[in-house]
Formats: sequence, C-alpha cells, structure tokens
Amino acid sequence: MEHPLSPPPAIPGILVIGGGLAATALVAALRSEGFEGEVTVAGNEPPYDRPPLSKELLSRSQPADLRDQFPSDAATWLTGVRATAVAGREVTLVDTAGRTSTATAAAVVLAVGARPTVPPGWDGVRTLSDWEDAEELRNLLTPGSHLVIAGAGWIGLEVASSASRAGVRVTIVEEAGRPLGRLIPAEVGRRIASWLGDVDLVEGRVAMATATTLRLADGREVAGDVVVAALGARPATGWLPAGWLTPGGHVRTDAAGRIPDAPGMWAIGDCAAGDVGGQHWNAAVAAAQRCAHALLGHEVPPAPPPTVFSSMFGHQVDLVGRSAPDLAVLWREGEGWTALLLADDDILVGGLAVDRPRDVAALRRALATGTPVIDRHAAADAGRRLAEAVRRR
Ligand SMILES: Cc1cc2nc3c(=O)[nH]c(=O)nc-3n(C[C@H](O)[C@H](O)[C@H](O)COP(=O)(O)OP(=O)(O)OC[C@H]3O[C@@H](n4cnc5c(N)ncnc54)[C@H](O)[C@@H]3O)c2cc1C
Repeated sequence: MEHPLSPPPAIPGILVIGGGLAATALVAALRSEGFEGEVTVAGNEPPYDRPPLSKELLSRSQPADLRDQFPSDAATWLTGVRATAVAGREVTLVDTAGRTSTATAAAVVLAVGARPTVPPGWDGVRTLSDWEDAEELRNLLTPGSHLVIAGAGWIGLEVASSASRAGVRVTIVEEAGRPLGRLIPAEVGRRIASWLGDVDLVEGRVAMATATTLRLADGREVAGDVVVAALGARPATGWLPAGWLTPGGHVRTDAAGRIPDAPGMWAIGDCAAGDVGGQHWNAAVAAAQRCAHALLGHEVPPAPPPTVFSSMFGHQVDLVGRSAPDLAVLWREGEGWTALLLADDDILVGGLAVDRPRDVAALRRALATGTPVIDRHAAADAGRRLAEAVRRR
C-alpha cells in the first residue's frame, strides 16, 4: 500500500491551493476517508458554486457556499490569498494587502481552476467566471437592454437563457451557426436551437470585439449594450513551472492527480490534465475523490464517465460520455428526448438527454466499463428502459 505522506514531512498535513469546487470536495473526501491531519486551503475567493452564476444570473442575490454541499469545516480556510510561485513544495502566497508569505506541507494540491478565454485586443468585453462578474452583469442587464454573446457553448446558452427570461434582448454569434456546434452532431444542435425563442442566433466568426460590439470576419457588426465572451476557459496555471504544463496549459498529472517528477505535488479539477471528464463539475468532484484516496494510500476509485449537466430554456440537459459532431445519432423520444451517440457498429459512446434523468443514470452505468453495443430497435422505444437495449461486447 502506498503512503504518499511518507517520509515524514517537515510540516505535517495537506495544503490545497485554490478554494473552489475541487478543493472543497477534496477536504470533504479526506475527512470522510478518515484523515485527521491538518488541512489548509488557500484561495483568493471563498468557496462557492459556479453553475448557479449563469443559470440564476439575474435572480440570485448570494453565492451558494460549497461547504453546504461538501462538509469541510474541519479545515483552515485562508481566503483573499493568491499563489504566485512554487518551488519544490513551497508555495508563495500574496494577500489582498500585497503581503507575501510562503507555505508548505507534506502534500500540496493545486486546485486553481480555469479562467475564461478572451482573445487579445477584446478590450472591455465581459466574461462570466466569478461572483463579481455576475454582480456586474446583473447591474448592466436591465429589461430591454441588448446583450450580445460570442459563443453558443454551455455558458453562452445558459447566460442567454437567464437574460432573455428576464426581458433582456439577446443575440448570440456562433461560428458553427448552431448551439454546442463543436461538441454535438448538427441534428442535435438544431433541436436545441428550436428552444431559443426570441434569442437571435447569428452564424459568423468573430474577428474582434469591443465592450458593445462584435466585428465579424466577413465585415458585419453586431452591436448591443453589453458584450459577453463565452469562448471556453484556460487553466489558471500561468504562475506554475512551464515544464509541468501541457501545451493547453493544464498541469500534467496521472489519473489520481500526482504531478510527475514533483514529489508531494498534486493537481485536480479544471487546472489538471488528469481530469478525464474535462473541465466540468462532476469531473472536478470525482478527481478530488480519487486524489483523496491516493493521498491516503487507499485504493483509488475508477473515474466515472464524463457527465456535464446544464439547464437552459426550461430544460434539463445532461451530456454523458464522449461527444463529437461526427457521431451517429439514435433518438429516444418520449417525455423529453435522448440523442444516443454512436460510433461504428452501433457502439454507444455517449448520449445527450433532455429532461430524462433515468436515461442519464442508465447512460452512466452503460458507459462505466467495457464496450456497450446498442440494440437500435429496443433503444428507440423510449417506453422501455435504456438498460434493456445495451449489450456488452
Ligand atoms: C458560470 C459557470 C457555470 C458553470 N456551470 C456548469 C454546469 O452547469 N455544469 C458543469 O458540469 N460545470 C459547470 N461549470 C464548470 C464548473 O463550475 C467547474 O468545472 C468547477 O468549478 C471546477 O472546479 P475547480 O475547483 O477546478 O475550479 P473552481 O471551482 O473555479 O475553483 C478554483 C478556485 O481557485 C482560485 N484560484 C485561481 N488561481 C488561484 C491562485 N493562483 N491562488 C489562489 N487561488 C486561485 C479561483 O479564484 C477559484 O476560487 C460552470 C462554470 C462557470 C464559470
């Protein structure tokens, strides 16, 4: 059995840098696995949940404290603290007054998340990543104002949904011309497009943006009162040694979060490459749980299939497993619908379920191990359980 906390450390305990979802879930997992040592979390914000920022953009008045979901009181929380450098296991921290200190521990876990991508020169453009961004947008997006969003990915669509529900005029510009265009097959994207109602979806590539206007590559302009860039996110890892990072900026790790050739250093959540589920909520929680097991020398649970949840335009949307625009689609129509995503020979690789929680659970089970093959006839009958339509190869 591995004991990653030995040889005995100069300073006992575990130091977590970040203080968001992965950090909070890690503390809770360490405690539930019986770890009684010291845990210190140093982050520049208090721990709150991000999904409500977009889904309840104009209705929420308080952030949702993550410690209500993941009991993590038995830790020391340092907030308003930013990590700026690391050498060995010693991390340099700077507080809001500019005071610098260093901290170390037997194990240091980086859980610093990601920041929205903003192309160079897009000055004054807004993004939605933290509570401050949400508060600023709330003040700007009054009924009748015009919001222009670059990107019809998850966050762009959720912001559009929240804003239009509150009487804001919304235009989205998306290169693929349909929702989630780079992620899901066109026919599934077109069904999501049918929910948009008053929201305008403009097909086009944005070449430049200002605080109020998107300039498209073909010369068109889309102007409004506020521009939000929703183009994805990049790991918040610019302060870490370049040798630790992938070309995309993720910290290289194994599946439990260990950073190779950096003893005692770990990384989990949106900042880490070991996160097989991508930059999403469930993946960050699962990574924290795997990391807690590994830190304590316990058997590491397998990674669950990637699952992204979203809610938009009155629908609950869950994407399980792998997705790509070129996959074949098999529909299950009933109360809600599910697009089963198939690769060669009817191999089930993923599914996008709309208002069908039972299909989500069945997809997660089907995709957990092995190679699931679909019986097309049985799977298309939404009155039958999806599990009945899955065989294993
Ligand atoms: C608006 C929004 C909506 C979302 N909705 C969904 C959804 O519906 N479904 C879904 O699956 N996922 C969603 N996500 C993604 C999900 O929230 C993230 O995958 C998850 O929060 C990742 O957890 P994390 O701990 O890695 O990062 P975070 O939760 O972002 O936490 C990282 C923390 O580290 C802090 N930090 C960064 N750099 C430093 C530093 N140098 N020093 C100290 N602290 C630092 C950050 O301020 C932050 O508090 C959403 C994200 C956003 C922004």
